[in-house]
Amino acid sequence: MAPSGAPVSDIDWDSFAKDLGSVQHSRQVRILERRSQDFYWFSPILKETLAGVRGDIVVEPGSEAEVIHVVRTCVRHRAPLTVRGAGTGNYGQAMPLRGGVVLDTRRLTAVMEVADGVIRCQPGLKLIDAERAALERGYELRLFPSTKRTATVGGFIAGGSSGIGAIQHGYLSDPGNVPSLRVVTMEPEPAVVALRGQDVGRVAHAYGTNGVITELELALAPAVTWVDVIVAFDGFDQALRFAQALADDGGIVTKEIGVFVASIPPYFPNVDVPAGRDACMLMVAEPSMQALGSLAESLAGEVCYTKRDPESGRTRPLYEYTWNHTTLHAINADSSITYLQSLFPPDDGIAPVLAMHKHFGDEVPMHVELVRWQGRVAYAGLQLVRYTTRERLYEIVRYHEEHGVTVFDPHTHVIEDGGMKVVDPQQLDFKRQVDPLGLMNPGKMRGWWEDQAVPGRDVAIFR
Ligand code: FAD
Repeated sequence: MAPSGAPVSDIDWDSFAKDLGSVQHSRQVRILERRSQDFYWFSPILKETLAGVRGDIVVEPGSEAEVIHVVRTCVRHRAPLTVRGAGTGNYGQAMPLRGGVVLDTRRLTAVMEVADGVIRCQPGLKLIDAERAALERGYELRLFPSTKRTATVGGFIAGGSSGIGAIQHGYLSDPGNVPSLRVVTMEPEPAVVALRGQDVGRVAHAYGTNGVITELELALAPAVTWVDVIVAFDGFDQALRFAQALADDGGIVTKEIGVFVASIPPYFPNVDVPAGRDACMLMVAEPSMQALGSLAESLAGEVCYTKRDPESGRTRPLYEYTWNHTTLHAINADSSITYLQSLFPPDDGIAPVLAMHKHFGDEVPMHVELVRWQGRVAYAGLQLVRYTTRERLYEIVRYHEEHGVTVFDPHTHVIEDGGMKVVDPQQLDFKRQVDPLGLMNPGKMRGWWEDQAVPGRDVAIFR
């Protein structure tokens, strides 16, 4: 199915580049190709539909004033604009379906302040650098994606959802995790709008369809010395029981609890999980290590790896095997593999996870992350799928949904189809105000093209 968006106007890119003045930019094909892609190829479906998508010019503003100038120039030329951080998003989020301008934020890296448990910074700052700044003041990030070492703060807010830290702090969308942000609007005279509290939801996870984030705040947690731990089990059910007990135990402090069926760890380079054993990968606070050992022993688990201060030295931190890094390692080992993203019914414990595991067996190798979902412990699935056909993939999706598992489809570039399946009225309403011409990341927001009655899915992709 072809991606959709507003029709592309004829744009004189020489004149556009001239109007950019001193704003750094490039029209080199090699650079355009590289900066027009993300990790869309995790999906065999998107790999086909989005191949060859390319912007016409990459701009790299170095200040909010330059962002405003770029936006004003785009509106004057009626040029589509797609914002991009590090391009580690998965669903073609940062891919310019209608061509046009790719705005790379990675020169916007200032840290304005770290105070009172909050960092205020520009969007192009890498998450790892945000954390370094926080650590200097005794704090760490509450939540980060497994791409912390490459991804930007702005990309996480506009495109991500949660990650390491989810067992304590839930999702980015939970109140308090992103206290505020500022966006530049896509109007002939761009405005800078500050959003706080619940209003942040107008722009967060909107894939950059309704404003360029130029500054934001992230809530922090007091810094902790973490230990990476792997516990191996004979039986996936036993690994799940341990994970549930750990999540329920208020005394053992964890930042990450991932559970992997035995067929998955062999995909991980340089990780020694005894062959044939199911595994839990954890980040555990150092003072909790003794209690963790006792809990593992009581549930027949073997602690087979520990490393204090995971990011020190040369070994890869365990978080780079969790969340969507699990999928990355599996695809690197076997390119026929793809994945799902799902949420098992909170409150039902391990039973629905085990039921899906039993039903699909090795066709859907089970990987779950323990999260706090609206305050309760829940299982977020990032199941691997041994892909055969699109029809079979959606049969698997349907079976999950029929059994109460919510699937956030990672095989679509459309925000709503990958999320809760419904148009978010506050995001759509905000887009009407701040991007009246529909120039921002066109083709990603179903609510917009239905609202504007612009041609939708049948519009051919611009290449
Ligand atoms: P990009 O991919 O560049 O952009 C993401 C979206 O944000 C795009 O729609 C873009 O238009 C928009 N955007 C970027 N900057 C701005 C801005 N300043 N203003 C407005 N819009 C903007 N995600 C998770 O949530 N949790 C995970 O654990 C996780 N693990 C991953 C593991 C792997 C191996 C991969 C490939 C991806 C993973 N992701 C995960 C997805 C992705 O890495 C994260 O969401 C990451 O934070 C995106 O940051 P980025 O800088 O790469 O953003």
